[in-house]
Amino acid sequence: MHGNYKVASQVLDIPSSSKQRKLAFLLGSVITAASLSALPFGMTALPAMEPFLSAAIGWLIFGDMLTAFIIYSQYRASGLPGLMVLSCTYLFSGLMKFLHVLTFPDLFGEFGVFIGAGGQTAGWLWVFWHGGFSLGILVYAWVNRKWSKPFESKEQVFKFGTAGITLTLLTVLGVFELAALGERWLPNIIDQSDYREVNTSGIGPLLWILNFFALLALWGRVKGWSMMHLWLAVALLALMMDVTLTLFAGMRFTLGWYVAKLNSVVASTVVICAVVNEVNRLFIRLSEQHRQLVESGQQLEHANEQLIRLTNLDGLTEIPNRRRFDEILAWELESPEERSTALSLLIIDIDCFKAYNDYYGHQGGDHVLKEIAWTIYAEAKKEQGFAARYGGEEFVVVLSGLETQQTLEFSERLRQAVATLSIEHLRSKAEPHVTISVGGYRLAPFDPMSGEELILRADRCLYRAKEEGRNRSVVEG
Ligand code: GH3
Ligand code: MG
Ligand code: MG
Repeated sequence: MHGNYKVASQVLDIPSSSKQRKLAFLLGSVITAASLSALPFGMTALPAMEPFLSAAIGWLIFGDMLTAFIIYSQYRASGLPGLMVLSCTYLFSGLMKFLHVLTFPDLFGEFGVFIGAGGQTAGWLWVFWHGGFSLGILVYAWVNRKWSKPFESKEQVFKFGTAGITLTLLTVLGVFELAALGERWLPNIIDQSDYREVNTSGIGPLLWILNFFALLALWGRVKGWSMMHLWLAVALLALMMDVTLTLFAGMRFTLGWYVAKLNSVVASTVVICAVVNEVNRLFIRLSEQHRQLVESGQQLEHANEQLIRLTNLDGLTEIPNRRRFDEILAWELESPEERSTALSLLIIDIDCFKAYNDYYGHQGGDHVLKEIAWTIYAEAKKEQGFAARYGGEEFVVVLSGLETQQTLEFSERLRQAVATLSIEHLRSKAEPHVTISVGGYRLAPFDPMSGEELILRADRCLYRAKEEGRNRSVVEG
């Protein structure tokens, strides 16, 4: 089963696939098994690799901040209050880690970069980051149940979002001030690298219980395992293993401490990985659909061109048809006051074509029609003219800028070109080969005339050419 994007209006709606559930179960099992088996050796001291902490925490901060950002964008889009809480939880967690690394002993100076921070500061920040995250999840689960409906207006979304972020920043500031300046009022939980007092003070177990309840609350919220809740649960499990190991290890730079940090990495990375994976899948689907859209657009364009071609071309001869000719002629005659060149119209009729068909067959006739069509088309083109099949065995040519005499000369060239084809026609009354008769009329520049009238005049000339014995041109104008 795939995430159903049709109904998923926000990230909490995306259901987890069975593959994801298997993967989450596998990862959860591996984390738990690895952490529990490391537990008996938790106190084993390992070399103190301080860069490890910086590297790990750098990763954690990046993971938390990016998760916070993406979930916040989802909040802006959906208006679901729960998502805002979740985003702020990650923001809080990321900032806590940032402050934690900046106050960690001997990393950026003895007690870090902040004046007022002491030996307890980093330890307490660790406590706040873990406690805060679990608390955030608890609040999230509660808000999600209480306010499962999205905010109604964009203003509300913005207002509550800004309030949430402000509250988070203020909490971070307050908590930091408490851990740094108020250090001496807090119970001692750490002595050099030894933080066994976290447990004896009761703070450790409290963290663990808070974490446990957060996991339970999330479990209770989960119906049908949405993708987001599935990976949040894995993150919480990793966080719980992190706390468990840390509490058992009791010292920095022990095996337990290192494995705990790896759990932290998992905790702050799984959700972002899952979300990025969803976004990526969505993007791939989207680009696939876009590609199909572009493709069908091109097909449509191609079909359109084909359609235009077909509506303007004659099926047999593939030169322009009557429809196109009517269009062109109307366009040429539309505004006589603007037509500064003469317009010549020729009507061409094949001589004794009925007899040709009768003697040589209809197919032979078709072949002749095509040859003559191409000949006329090519000759017209040489003069920048337009040629079309008018219907049956009649063709038309439209030319501009020619005198009457030049129109006649062109007609004669046309007649000659057809004669030169030397297509045998033993039943012709004119010659023993296929010939044409041409009637033409030349309309002077700026002279107004309708298309019908022009055709009629050219047709009359054609009639005369036929009368006078065929295989000739008659041009007037
Ligand atoms: P004229 O010299 O007076 O023009 O004599 P004609 O036989 O050519 O005149 P008419 O108009 O009587 O005959 C035209 C013939 O053209 C009739 C028809 O058989 C033929 N024709 C019209 N369209 C087609 C076509 O698409 N294919 C073929 N093979 N013949 C066609
Ligand atoms: Mg005819
Ligand atoms: Mg004819």
